[in-house]
Amino acid sequence: PDAISVSNLAKIIGVASFEQKLQNLGIEYVSHDHLLNAEEASLIAMEYNLNPVVNSEAAIDLFSKPKPVDMSKYPLRSPVVAILGHVDHGKTTLLDTLRKSSVAAGEAGGITQHIGAFSVTLPSERTITFLDTPGHAAFSAMRARGAHVTDIVVLVVAADDGIMPQTLEAIKHAKDAGVPMIVAINKIDRHNANSQKVRESLLANGVELEEYGGETQSVEISGLTGQGLDQLEEAIITLAELSDLRAEVDIEAEGAVIESQMEKGKGYVATILVKRGTLKQGDIIVAGTTWCKVRMMTNEKSQIIKNALPSTPVKVIGWKELPVAGDEVFQATDEELAKIVVANRKLKSSREQQLKDLEVINEKRRQRK
Ligand code: GDP
Ligand code: MG
Repeated sequence: PDAISVSNLAKIIGVASFEQKLQNLGIEYVSHDHLLNAEEASLIAMEYNLNPVVNSEAAIDLFSKPKPVDMSKYPLRSPVVAILGHVDHGKTTLLDTLRKSSVAAGEAGGITQHIGAFSVTLPSERTITFLDTPGHAAFSAMRARGAHVTDIVVLVVAADDGIMPQTLEAIKHAKDAGVPMIVAINKIDRHNANSQKVRESLLANGVELEEYGGETQSVEISGLTGQGLDQLEEAIITLAELSDLRAEVDIEAEGAVIESQMEKGKGYVATILVKRGTLKQGDIIVAGTTWCKVRMMTNEKSQIIKNALPSTPVKVIGWKELPVAGDEVFQATDEELAKIVVANRKLKSSREQQLKDLEVINEKRRQRK
């Protein structure tokens, strides 16, 4: 288990041979069945941007590529926005109104579909991607699984209700995640709306609003009538520009699973938010303990997409098993590598489960004594 032949490693990596790389390691004139130890194999694998986990199983896995130090030469990408706030403060209504504006701007004939995220194109041609599963549970679950997809949090606070327990929870979530926030003071159309009171209590709870010399923008809106949504979108673009969000487009795709389900006639489908690189039809991707040859990609208007750039959400068909929301997505060079990575991950999780079970058994034994 600690050794692998030259030909097998080449097969896993997906190359005919890697003689030059062997020579770089000081290994010369070896036959195809020459056995490389775990360290040699992982050094070669790393040359191909694969990050092998070296342990007794010498398990090969896929990881995020190191980010370039200087991002300035890479193209800008759209901000990815999550909407948080107390129950009934208007998150769903706001998302519906934003989605309608996105549909109206789109080509005719597209049927909108809930796919977990959608993009809005502004008159300035800039686009904003909204995650449309509001709720703190979804936000935390995604973060817990490693999917750092949100660039900006829009905190919805109803102007007639003010700061409530889940408002404070949302502020904490954004702070913990290190994600900048914009406050949307909502339901401004209501006669008993009191935005000044909302601002004061936000300040009292550590949200440093611009009006008080801080950095957090606030916008008065009505998700119901659409009032103030232009200003909200402007505020998002301003903050995005400040954050200078950029991504490489010509590397292997990396992303996250936003949501997944079984669909009649389509099998397992998942919405993937591309974070880096370009996801293309026919690509092989791995998420958690499943993989997929991308058979078809569609957007929220059910239009077929051939290439998905960073910050683009796409519904992907072709999964072998159901991936889990929040799982990170990495492209593999070919099916063989994807299968090996998935097998390794399954093995690892079953080992971990066995160890946990063993611990429970031992604990019971100790208690019996
Ligand atoms: P959520 O729980 O945060 O998703 O809140 P909803 O979007 O379901 O809204 C809760 C209630 O507030 C619904 O009856 C909405 O119609 C109403 N509502 C939401 N936004 C506004 C608004 O801007 N103005 C007014 N007057 N009512 C709103
Ligand atoms: Mg709701």
